[in-house]
Amino acid sequence: MPEQLPLISGRIASRAEIPRAGRIVVKVGSSSISGANAGQIRPLVDALATAHGRGSDVVLVSSGAIATGIPYLRLDSRPTDLATQQAAAAVGQNVLIYRYQDCLDRYEIVAGQVLLTAGDLENPVHRSNAQRAMERLLGLRILPIVNENDTVATHEIRFGDNDRLASLVTQLVRADLLLLLSDVDALYTRPPGTAGARPIHHVAFGEDLAEVEFGDIGSAGVGTGGAGTKVAAATLAAASGTPVLLAATTQVAAALEGADIGTWFDAAPRRQ
Ligand code: GLU
Repeated sequence: MPEQLPLISGRIASRAEIPRAGRIVVKVGSSSISGANAGQIRPLVDALATAHGRGSDVVLVSSGAIATGIPYLRLDSRPTDLATQQAAAAVGQNVLIYRYQDCLDRYEIVAGQVLLTAGDLENPVHRSNAQRAMERLLGLRILPIVNENDTVATHEIRFGDNDRLASLVTQLVRADLLLLLSDVDALYTRPPGTAGARPIHHVAFGEDLAEVEFGDIGSAGVGTGGAGTKVAAATLAAASGTPVLLAATTQVAAALEGADIGTWFDAAPRRQ
């Protein structure tokens, strides 16, 4: 007998319901998929393809253009000036999309590259253009891969490795889940590894996180996000009605299967 596929139903309220989410935005940061971690692209794509295959609409927000471009510009480390960062992004974005498409080919899934700025999503005309294009891409079963348009905007280069962009995209497509992937497996009460740091399993909507101490960027030093920008992004998405799961990139398959991992942020009741 053929395996019963889970029913795709749209809105979800817990980790266990993730396999039924109608529309999922997954955000991955630079350090998880570039340099020594470039090999994580394949298992990431395997997990996204599984979710796509069961009927969910999947949007990937991926940083990593600058980090991927660095060796092609024959630089040893991340450039500090904006112009060279933008040049690295222009070169690296091309390579990054090629790597994703190469892995997606096995599933006969086609990627669509979407480069946006936060400003685009605030401008009503640009926003509705982006929304229409995203809806059509998803309707065609394309897997949109979104990054900041680094040659014209630099917010995420400076402030957050696409965390904010991911929550704006989540609002744009009215996703049922935002999955924020990072180097760490959860939000911790203090920077992970420091004495007394405890993982936070659940954040109720509106819960005060003032007691949480945020650390700096991830260990590889190629991205610009940290726990603070992730919580800000999660709070923004949750406030617009989408629950958020924060988990490690290495756990993406388990996260999309509904495993009891990471930090879950409840959504505000959505205005219909
Ligand atoms: N859009 C940039 C990238 O993909 C942001 C990430 C960063 O600051 O490293 O590389």
